[in-house]
Amino acid sequence: MFKAIYIDQGDDGYSVKLTELDESVLPDGEVSVAVEYSTINYKDALAITGKGPIIRSFPMVPGIDLAGTVTGSRDVRFAPGDRVLVTGWGVGERHWGGLAQCARGKADWFLPLPKTFSTRDAMGLGTAGYTAMLCVQTLLAHGVTADQGEILVTGASGGVGSIAIQLLSKRGYRVVASTGRFADTEYHKALGALEVIDREVLSGPGSPLEKERWAGAVDVVGGQTLANVCASTKYGGVVTACGLTQGMNLPLTVAPFILRGVSLIGVDSVYCPPEKRRAAWAALEFEWDVAVRHQITRCIPLSEVIDQASAMIDGKVKGRLVVDVNA
Ligand code: NDP
Repeated sequence: MFKAIYIDQGDDGYSVKLTELDESVLPDGEVSVAVEYSTINYKDALAITGKGPIIRSFPMVPGIDLAGTVTGSRDVRFAPGDRVLVTGWGVGERHWGGLAQCARGKADWFLPLPKTFSTRDAMGLGTAGYTAMLCVQTLLAHGVTADQGEILVTGASGGVGSIAIQLLSKRGYRVVASTGRFADTEYHKALGALEVIDREVLSGPGSPLEKERWAGAVDVVGGQTLANVCASTKYGGVVTACGLTQGMNLPLTVAPFILRGVSLIGVDSVYCPPEKRRAAWAALEFEWDVAVRHQITRCIPLSEVIDQASAMIDGKVKGRLVVDVNA
């Protein structure tokens, strides 16, 4: 038997509980894992609370991230005892995920744990950290250098935002953090932000073109904020978009693109090709300051996951929640 968060939908509606399951009910897969740590990402919070249509197949064990030790493998790439991690690939959405003590899945989903990371370090980053790195690498690939000006990070208290601030500042970029927790600017400054702005500045209706400010941006908020970020990006600047915490809509004109040559680039972590994933995790191993982990992560047991998922949707969670599935 193993403990798991279990979501179902039936005649009685949407239900979520912490329960014990028999290993025989685990879906088929080439690699079986004893999970050590998982996380709660925004997407997990939407799945657990039922606030977003994340789950594609019921019943479901949520958790888009996991790290642990291989207990069995039918694939030559993995053997019992290997330390591995999984992020995305529809895990926790279409396939049973990491908020459980056991998991099983396709060998293609698994990556070897970066050598210098513990399973807990890896989940302190999880999808949020790896997505932050994908955004940073996108800015780099499009020629945004530290001498070009300020880089804006929105949703700066969240997982992607917090990690993006540290990664960018470590590379020497001048980072401006946009946050709804304006009273908590010490947090953002400790991560490396040089300036903190209230998210209200960017979240209301704006003009097609605003005063040029940002050389680049990492946006997790979407909606009107993303439109305003594009409108205030400097000539030739690059905006990476990966999230939608303000909304899915994008009330934007073409003005920033055709008059200032601004690029808006989408970043997806879920089906990102394996070579890009490996490159992102390899870069995280060298560029992520593990000491910062204590500033931005909090470890909780499976029994707190359901409550903390609601808190995350209510905007009450700062940084990253790591889940010790065996606590
Ligand atoms: P978190 O919940 O950790 O952080 C989200 C942050 O967004 C909050 O901390 C808050 O920051 C800000 N925020 C929340 N609500 C609002 C609002 N109504 N208006 C403006 N800002 C708001 O989430 P993650 O960092 O894990 O994920 C952020 C987004 O990125 C989510 O939409 C998620 O789905 C998406 N994502 C996408 C990925 C991809 O592959 N494309 C991968 C990972 C995440 P503050 O308090 O500082 O304002």
